[in-house]
Amino acid sequence: MKDIEDRVVEGERLSVADAVDLYNHPNLPDLSSLADYVRTEKHPEKIVTYNLGRNINYTNVCWVKCSFCNFYAPPGSPDSYTLSKEEIFRKIEELIAAGGEVPEGCELLMQGGLNPKLRIDYFEDLFAAITERYPQAYLHALSATEILYIAHLSRLTVEETLLRLRAAGLKSIPGAGAEILSDAVRDQIAFRKDTTREWLNVHQAAHRLGMNTTATMMYGSVETPEQRLEHLRLIRETQDEALTNQATGQGGGKFTAFIAWSFQPDGTELQGKVHQQKATGAEYLRMVALSRVFLDNIDNLQASYVTQGAKIAQVALKYGLNDFGSSMMEENVVSAAGTYHLMSVSEIRRLITEAGYQPRRRNTRYELID
Ligand code: SF4
Repeated sequence: MKDIEDRVVEGERLSVADAVDLYNHPNLPDLSSLADYVRTEKHPEKIVTYNLGRNINYTNVCWVKCSFCNFYAPPGSPDSYTLSKEEIFRKIEELIAAGGEVPEGCELLMQGGLNPKLRIDYFEDLFAAITERYPQAYLHALSATEILYIAHLSRLTVEETLLRLRAAGLKSIPGAGAEILSDAVRDQIAFRKDTTREWLNVHQAAHRLGMNTTATMMYGSVETPEQRLEHLRLIRETQDEALTNQATGQGGGKFTAFIAWSFQPDGTELQGKVHQQKATGAEYLRMVALSRVFLDNIDNLQASYVTQGAKIAQVALKYGLNDFGSSMMEENVVSAAGTYHLMSVSEIRRLITEAGYQPRRRNTRYELID
C-alpha cells in the first residue's frame, strides 16, 4: 500500500495489478485517505456539486429480458407502457416548477427499454418538441443500448443516428447499459444485449462527434473482481483516446463522469442465483475509492444515493466522490428491484453541508450555475 501511495503522490498512473492490490487491501480508511488525496488534487475547492434533474422512463417495453433487470415489460404485456408526449411534457413542467428556470439547467435523463415500435422518427419528433417548448431542458438521454437499437430498427449507422438525434436536441448520453464491460459477464446476465465492443463503439462515436457521455458500472452480480478492474481499464483507455483527440485539436467529447452502483437483486431473475450476496456499503466505498484512484483521467465521480442510500453516499464523499448527482424526482428502474432512495434538493444540500463541503448546483456539463 505504501508503495502505491508513494507512486500516486508522484503522479504515476496505476496498473491493473496495482488496482488488484488496492482492491484486496483490508483497511478501508487507508483507501479513503488515498482516494481523498486524489480527489483533493483534482478538486481543491471544498465543493460538492449536484444538479436539478428528472428521470423520465418514456417506455418500459423491452424484449431483451436481461436477468438483472426488473423494470422491463415484454411487448404487448398488460404492464407495458409508453408515455404520451403530453405525459412527458407534464413531467418536464413539474421539474421546471421545482426550480429549473436556468437555461439548460434542468437535466432530462430520458431512458427506456428496447421498444420495437420506436424508430428514430419517434425520438426526433419528441426531442424537437421538447427542445422547442423548454429551453431550460438539457437532454441527457438514451443509453448506448437504445442508440444501437434505434440505429438497427431505422437502418442507420450509429453515427447517422447520433447526428440525427443531436440535430433534434439530444445533448449528451448517459452511461447506462455498461453493467460490466466483459463479454463473459454480459453473456451470463444480458446475452441479448450489446457486446462490450458495441457499447464502447457508441461512446467513442459520440465523443468523435463532440458529444459528452458518462460511464457507469453495475457491480455485484456474477462478475469477478478482475472483471470489474478490466471494466475500469476499458473506461480509462476510452477516455485517454477522447482526451488525446481533444489535445491534438480534433475536438470531441469525453466522459464527464463515472458512476458506480451495486446490483439490486430483489425480484430479478438473478435473485438467489448469484454466488455473491448483495453488495454492502463497505464494498461500495471500496469501489468508489478504487475508481477515483484508478480513473485518473475522469474528473467527476458521482454518487448513487438511489442504490446506496443517503448515508453511505454522504460517507463516500470522503472516498473520492465530488458530486451527489441529480435530484431525479422519480425512479422506476432500481425501484423495480427493491430498495431505492429519493431525496429533495434541500436534503442533498444538507447532507453535503454536514459532511463539510459547500453544495453547489451544476448543469449536465458540470459548470457551476448557482
Ligand atoms: S436492462 Fe435495459 S435492455 Fe435489459 S431488460 Fe432492462 S430495459 Fe431491457
